[in-house]
Amino acid sequence: MNQTPEKSEAITLSTFDGGLKLSENKHLSTTSGISTLPPCKQYILPLQQHIGVISQALVKPGDKVLKGQMLAKPNHLISAAIHSPVSGTVARIEQHAVPHASGLPDQCIIIDNDFNDEWVPRQPLADEYINTDASDLRDIIRDSGIVGLGGATFPSAVKQTEKKLKTLIINGIECEPYITCDDVLMRQFAEQVVSGISIIKHIINVEQCIIAIEDNKPEAIKAMQLAIDKKSDDAFRIQTVPTLYPSGGEKQLIKILTGKEVPSHCYPADIDVLCHNVATAYAIHRTIYFAEPLISRITTITGQGVVQPQNIAVLIGTPMQSCIEHCGGYTKNSDELIMGGPMMGFSLESDALPIVKATNCLLVTAKDENPEKQTHLPCIRCGKCVDVCPVRLLPQQLYWYASSKNAERLLEHNLFDCIECGCCAYVCPSDIPLVQYYRHAKTTYVQQERERKLSDIARQRHEAHQLRVEKQKQEREERLRKKREMLKNKATDKKTTGGKTNKDAKQSAITEAIARAKAKKAERLKESETKSEKKES
Ligand code: SF4
Ligand code: SF4
Repeated sequence: MNQTPEKSEAITLSTFDGGLKLSENKHLSTTSGISTLPPCKQYILPLQQHIGVISQALVKPGDKVLKGQMLAKPNHLISAAIHSPVSGTVARIEQHAVPHASGLPDQCIIIDNDFNDEWVPRQPLADEYINTDASDLRDIIRDSGIVGLGGATFPSAVKQTEKKLKTLIINGIECEPYITCDDVLMRQFAEQVVSGISIIKHIINVEQCIIAIEDNKPEAIKAMQLAIDKKSDDAFRIQTVPTLYPSGGEKQLIKILTGKEVPSHCYPADIDVLCHNVATAYAIHRTIYFAEPLISRITTITGQGVVQPQNIAVLIGTPMQSCIEHCGGYTKNSDELIMGGPMMGFSLESDALPIVKATNCLLVTAKDENPEKQTHLPCIRCGKCVDVCPVRLLPQQLYWYASSKNAERLLEHNLFDCIECGCCAYVCPSDIPLVQYYRHAKTTYVQQERERKLSDIARQRHEAHQLRVEKQKQEREERLRKKREMLKNKATDKKTTGGKTNKDAKQSAITEAIARAKAKKAERLKESETKSEKKES
């Protein structure tokens, strides 16, 4: 196995298992530069645009908001803030359709644009980032809502661990067909991307930084090399990687560059590596230098089904139909709308959905590009899916267990290591939509686990309630027992006082005392009368 190279050494590239050579179709969207979308009337911001816990809304309907204002805060360590892309008013907070493979709606904040473009007061760093504490920079990145923009949307600040790491890998691979947003970003904003990488390097205090780019992006490689040369820091290096899908998968790229495998259930940091996407580095540059939270991204609008495929700089929350209109609208033979690429993307029912942090691409296919969808045939156990799986899973076994809803066997076969790259489905002669089975199985498992945990909590609460009720019952019975005992004692006392109650006894004692006093007084009177009589006689 290869060792992580020292910075002066040449890198000996390794390979991962499986993978596919695919038609790239990237030229469609790279002929023009990055265009900017005009402002829209309304923006839709889902509270869940990241891996982790849903954000907590900080605004309510009717509130005035400014551009860049935090609308929702992270609700957990693994969560991300959401910011307003424009100034305006919170129109509603409600369940709204969102771009998700499940097709389910989610809680969204809807902002009416006032078209004043009024920013929240911003405070860029007073000093150079190099003189700023790493934890302060991490806090800024967290408060800016920056997540992995390669599609994973894992909160970036959480990845920037305090653990001493050896290698920072910047992922500029973009291996999926059609998608070119990272390519054009590197071509057009190479210096800003390298600036963001320098900030990350400072935060994690890493020894070396490898910027990996597939060899099908010569212009991006050239622009990035120029930007690095200007820095004169030999800790940086560009590494071109042969074009093979899915080289851009985090674990696959780490294997290619370091020869090391990230073990199942482990993170890259466990083998001293941190991986960030080029677009994430660019977002970090914007937030540190301009105090600009993550309110926009570059998205590829492409495919034979859209009139002018291109890359657009778009505000998060923009309705997708506005993006398609900006690109000339749909062609007459447009067919399917997909978020993401043809391999890892998922089909959308409508374009009345918002661009979210994860939207790296909207692909509109044409009817002649899509073979007629047919019911899939049974698995013939040909093993082709096994040959191409980059994670060395057994896709056909996963398919059996997903079909039979056998969660135990799915876990044994490492379902959650599947990166949903789609290689297995691509080669399957029976046209089985394997990834759909895996996604459904994962969602069902996560859902069941959540329900199990909720039911455990409910059961524990019920048991605690039962204990409380039982204790209260015992306390009540004890009080009753004591009362009964007291009454019984009173009854006994009555018997011993000749049937008299304490009150009766007290009253008779008083009467007796009065009688005794009267008798004494009468006696004294009689004595004095006797003495007087004696004196007179
Ligand atoms: S490629 Fe398709 S048919 Fe062949 S073993 Fe895999 S699932 Fe079965
Ligand atoms: S989708 Fe999953 S099972 Fe299929 S090839 Fe990719 S990693 Fe392997």
